[in-house]
This record gives sequence, structure tokens and C-alpha cells, in this order.
Amino acid sequence: MPGFEIFGDEERKEVSDVLNTGVLFRYGFDAARKGHWKAKTFEAELCKKLNVKHCHLCSSGTAALSIALAACGVGAGDEVIVPPFTFIATIEAVVTAGAVPVFAEIDETLCLDPESVKERITERTKAVIPVHMCGAMAQIDAIKAVCDEKCLILIEDACQSLGASFKGKALGTFGQMGCFSFDPVKTITCGEGGGVVTNDEKLYALADSYSDHGHDHIGSDRGRETHPILGYNYRISELNAAVGVAQLRKLDIIIEKQRKHKKTIKTALSQCPGVSFRKLPDELGDSATFLSFFMPDEASTRQLAQNLAEAGVDGCFYWYDNNWHYIRQWDHLKTLNVAAKLPMQLLKYCPDYRKLNLVQSDAIMSRTISIQIKLSWTEEEIESRIAKIVKVIQKG
Ligand SMILES: *Cc1c(COP(=O)(O)O)cnc(C)c1O
Repeated sequence: MPGFEIFGDEERKEVSDVLNTGVLFRYGFDAARKGHWKAKTFEAELCKKLNVKHCHLCSSGTAALSIALAACGVGAGDEVIVPPFTFIATIEAVVTAGAVPVFAEIDETLCLDPESVKERITERTKAVIPVHMCGAMAQIDAIKAVCDEKCLILIEDACQSLGASFKGKALGTFGQMGCFSFDPVKTITCGEGGGVVTNDEKLYALADSYSDHGHDHIGSDRGRETHPILGYNYRISELNAAVGVAQLRKLDIIIEKQRKHKKTIKTALSQCPGVSFRKLPDELGDSATFLSFFMPDEASTRQLAQNLAEAGVDGCFYWYDNNWHYIRQWDHLKTLNVAAKLPMQLLKYCPDYRKLNLVQSDAIMSRTISIQIKLSWTEEEIESRIAKIVKVIQKG
């Protein structure tokens, strides 16, 4: 999956442009920068790629989530429906906004179950954040329909799914805002970076200001700009954006390769007894960063994960036991073990996450294994991986 596999001369060239001018800041210094605007270039090219009107680049995917929540007016005391299977950053962004994460179940798409989202809605619900996990889509049409019907804000966490789409429309462009990450283990990387996308001009203006201390970015004298809102600093540097510019131009090739590699492995595994696959609402739109499959029960799945590791098949994930991606191991959240008191803790309705019981999600995650799809594999390597995996599965 990751952009780190293909760091090359293109990235070095873009970074050199920045180093040669010495302008590391994305705003101003118009003469000194000699026409190099890396963050702006990235934003324009991402808009084109995703067929979306606005993009704002920022310092991380987590920052992108914080910016999106702020721009959409989600804050103190608002309930936000989230999945229990995501990278912890989704939850951290909600909590940091002063809002309250409310967990709904996932389904066999490994993403939010639209039926469960409906059941979690209260009079305090303000937004829903589906997370398009492991390169592929939630039932985004059904989730959007629920949000539209109930007048809820839809923010997509597409941090793991750049380049994926549902029925021809890019993930991240279905709701009010979509969020992307360009950290070193995502499909493409800036080293560190993130981005929000939207078709709404007002939300874009808020996101643009919020991520830079409220600056309106009008005119050419930064010190004289006005501040329509209080903001924060979530800026990206030109050095990071420069890496991203080169990486973004490789995205199509990355996705094509991943799809080809994944297809070969999936076809082979579909012959194995007991193996079934993650549901994909639109298989053609899968960015194919992972192949996720189900085994019949928890015991056989955990055993398989262990056997795969012992057989030297790297890049296999059993998320159910993972510290970072599934709620089962999030004791720090359950006990609200925090560095400083959270706004949420002042609320009468602050949830007790120790009492959460996500039966459906547990039943799915305890049977799920994901195999990371690498770009650098040769055909021989893929064949030998398949042989090893099939042998391990058949051994039981
Ligand atoms: C990586 C990731 C994030 C956070 O991105 P960073 O750039 O690492 O801050 C948020 N959500 C999901 C689902 C992610 O995978």
C-alpha cells in the first residue's frame, strides 16, 4: 500500500525546488519562491483527481478531522456517531473537539452499519463519521441517506482510502467534508500531512481560516489580514507538501498495481475452504491496499494469524487483538485515562465506555484477517506468498 515503497527522484526533485529557494512556508514570500507553490499545487491536483471543488492541505490526517469538525460546527457537547474499528485518531479528534463519540456497530464491510447508525441517533446527535477502512468503502449511499433524512452532518474519514470510489464517485466527496492522511503508512505520503475536501465554498473558507489562526488569506500582506474566526495552527510545510506533489502523481500507478496484486491473491484464496471475504459495496472502486477475509470462528482465526506469522508471511493483521485499530484494546478510552480533563467529562451524559457491548462488531472483527498489499512484490514473490498462505490455511 504505502507511498514509502516508491520514494524516488521525483520526490527529491520537488523537495529540491523548495530547498533551492529556502521558502519553507506555504504562504507569501511571492518573489523569493520563484513560482514554487507546493501546497497550492497539491490542492489543485487533488481536486482534479477527486473531482471535488475545494481541498485544503494540513499537517496530518488527525488535523484534517479536527478542521472538518470545526468547519462543520461540531463542538462542545455534540454527539458524533463513529465506528469501533478505525485508527484511534478518529476518536481523538471528536474528543478534542469537545464532542462525544457514540459507537455504532460495523457490518461485514468492516465499516459503519447504517442500521446501527440509525439506532444510535439521539436529540444530541450532530454528525456521523464513517471510516472507509483498509482501502475500501462503507455503504456510503445508505449512510448518506440516513444523514440526509435526519439532518446530520456527514464527515468521511477517508484517511486509508485515497483513490477509492463508490460507483465512480471518490470516497471523501459524499458528505459535507472528507478527510485524508498522508502519513508514512498511507497510500501516498507527505512524510506528515493531511487534507480536507469539500464542494461547499463556505466550509472551505472556514477550514482554510481555522487551520491558520483564523487568517482570511485575502490580500498579499499577511500581517494586515483579518481574522473572521478564532483558529489554530494545523499548517503543512512546503517541504512536506513537495513530497506529496510527487507522490500524488504516482497515485494511479499505485492503485493499478495494488488491484492487480490483490486480484491474484484473492482468486487463489477463494479456493480455500472456510474463507469468505469482506463485503465490498462496489468492488471496482476498491483501492486494494488490503485483502480482508473472514474465517469461520474466533479460535481458528487467531490460530491462523499465528500460523501465518510463524510461516514468515508478513503484513497480516488480526485487528481484534490490535492496540490501535479496534476498541477492544482501548482501555485508555474506556477508563478515560487522559493527560488533562476533557470537555466531555463535564457533561451529565458523558458515556461510560466500559459498559459498551458491541456484539456484532466483535463477532466480525474476531474472524477478520487483513493482508497488506505491497507494490514492490514481484510475480514470483506473490506466487510464493500464495503458496505459503494456502498451505497454512489448509493445515488448519
Ligand atoms: C492514519 C489515520 C488517521 C490519522 O492520520 P495521521 O496523518 O496519522 O494523523 C485518521 N484516521 C484513520 C482511519 C487513519 O488510518
